[in-house]
Amino acid sequence: MDIGAPSEDDPFEEQRERAANPMRRLFGEYGRPYTGQFVIGVVSSVAARSLDLLPPLLLGVAIDAIFLTGAQERPLDLPLVRDAWLPNGPDAVFLGFAGEEAQFAFLVAGVAAAYGIGAVFHYIRNWGWNSFAQNVQHDVRTDTYDHMQRLNMSFFEDKQTGELMSVLSNDVNRLEQFLNDGLNTASRLVLMVVGIAALLIWFNLSLAAVALLPVPVIAGFTYLFVKRIQPKYAEVRKSVGTVNSRLENNLGGIAVIKSSNTEKYEEERVDDVSRSYFDANWDAIQTRITFFPALRVLAGVGFTLTFVIGGLWVLRGSPPLPLLSGELSAGIFVMFVLYTQRFIWPLAQFGQIVNTYQRARASSERVFGLMDEVGRLEADADAADLTVSDSTVNYDDVSFGYEGETVLSDVSFTAGSGETVALVGPTGAGKSTALKLLLRMYDVDEGSIQVDGQDVRDVTPWSLRAATGYVSQDTFMFYGTVRENVAYGAFGATDAEVEAATRAAEAHRFVRNLPDGYDTMVGERGVKLSGGQRQRLAIARAILRDPEILILDEATSDVDTETEMLIQRSLDELTADRTTLVVAHRLSTVRNADRIVVLDEGQVVEEGTHEELLAEDGLYANLWGVQAGEIDDLPDQFVERSRERGARRFDDGTPADPPEPGDD
Ligand code: ADP
Repeated sequence: MDIGAPSEDDPFEEQRERAANPMRRLFGEYGRPYTGQFVIGVVSSVAARSLDLLPPLLLGVAIDAIFLTGAQERPLDLPLVRDAWLPNGPDAVFLGFAGEEAQFAFLVAGVAAAYGIGAVFHYIRNWGWNSFAQNVQHDVRTDTYDHMQRLNMSFFEDKQTGELMSVLSNDVNRLEQFLNDGLNTASRLVLMVVGIAALLIWFNLSLAAVALLPVPVIAGFTYLFVKRIQPKYAEVRKSVGTVNSRLENNLGGIAVIKSSNTEKYEEERVDDVSRSYFDANWDAIQTRITFFPALRVLAGVGFTLTFVIGGLWVLRGSPPLPLLSGELSAGIFVMFVLYTQRFIWPLAQFGQIVNTYQRARASSERVFGLMDEVGRLEADADAADLTVSDSTVNYDDVSFGYEGETVLSDVSFTAGSGETVALVGPTGAGKSTALKLLLRMYDVDEGSIQVDGQDVRDVTPWSLRAATGYVSQDTFMFYGTVRENVAYGAFGATDAEVEAATRAAEAHRFVRNLPDGYDTMVGERGVKLSGGQRQRLAIARAILRDPEILILDEATSDVDTETEMLIQRSLDELTADRTTLVVAHRLSTVRNADRIVVLDEGQVVEEGTHEELLAEDGLYANLWGVQAGEIDDLPDQFVERSRERGARRFDDGTPADPPEPGDD
């Protein structure tokens, strides 16, 4: 089995199918608040691009009216400009220049103004598009994240973190890129082609037909190119994903690689995936690098055609070809030649625009698919906040399974006000799962869990979580200072309160010895702290939040016995008048619990106090005996069951099936 390789299929296929009309939604839902910026982008693009078109036109006019014929014979004539504004006629004066020079000065001023005002519009255009794109991407990203973080835990178990990250970063970035560059390039293409075509047609319809001949050809050619290269790019993206997951997986498991001595093997596996990436990329590169030279040839043919026909027309007068009639001046000819060059390159981006659009569409399908993901712990509209009175927790015939496989069946027990109830039993018995159901990380399949008589599914999730404090075996430290980590979720806490909680969790001494004390940064996942230190900080976090109900899931599993005894003392204080559910593998830490519920294979098999259970001489008594060293091994019936489950160890780390001599 190829561990860690991403599946071939798009992990978000289901989500993508759900997201109908994603682009319409992108603009309709997220673009609408920023219509102003969008309109500014469009209007200033039109203005900026129109001004861009002005200099060749003025040059053409200057050649005809001033340089070749003399201004008195041929007055200036500009499209959309009133004759009265032009310095025509014998006494025309402009900026202190007279006659032909006045006309020349007028055209020079026009060119300068086109560039100057154009620059302002380009600035506004960029502001508009960027502002639109940034705002939309920000809203999309934060909305998607917010929706996602409220989904059921099972959603996160199905998806790899890397996949979700990729939607939140890559896909959202791709949308941003489309909204900014894509729309910008598309508007440029449309405006340049339409603008130039309009000008060419205005000046000389027949030559315009010749000059515009390459437009559909180039558009078609680039479209075909994109169609060809797209599957190749898809292949590249897939293989880059494989490379990333392989590297991520290997770096995460580096300790295992080293200890298993598999560096050589892993080197080959990385070589393999990297080679596939190379091949996929090379394939795409070969297609890509032939495109631009081919486009150049097409552009060259179009240009040459215009050049030859236009040039002959100027030299010899109207050529003997159908449709080409009338006169073509040298100025108009030069203008045509300049314009033809100008629209080739925007056209070459036609394919890229189609490509950007399609990729953005796929990205928005994934993003909106995620946003439509159901499985949020939605509170019913009429759900009330949990009102805690005496904090009784009641499990009432609870059954639950992950993806259908039953983990808990008909579990019932009660933790009365202020009581500490311990859940014990072999690994895999369902103890942690039972606690997670109380927190509504999952919802029960049958039965119910109530806090003070209120079904946890009928109250708002936030009020439930506010009333509960949870310390689990995998304690996560956010990147930040020790203080921030302890105060996480109790943001108003003062330094003195943080310190008091840390003291109570027996963590003050080690924190004080850290380089910056409470201001020491704990790295990503708190890697600079030992497991036991992290657990103590997590306990401090729970103490500080001072919840009515405390849930400890092997909260002290990672600390040494001595520290555990110390923490135990503060925990005893903490749990004394607080309803507490605790899962602990060291039975000595729960012997004083008010009640011990023994779970085996998802069922409650025994229940009582430590003494009562010892007297019963069942599973608990045996587990206790093993841990206390009174008996060497568990009775056969438990060992057998454990074998069937494939679990090799019971909670105390005792091998369930010690190897027999000669048994491998
Ligand atoms: P315990 O805390 O008693 O060791 P758990 O509640 O962690 O037991 O697990 C009970 C059973 O549920 C085990 O067989 C475990 O493999 C399975 N299980 C636990 N978490 C998940 C999960 N997120 N998805 C699927 N199965 C799970």
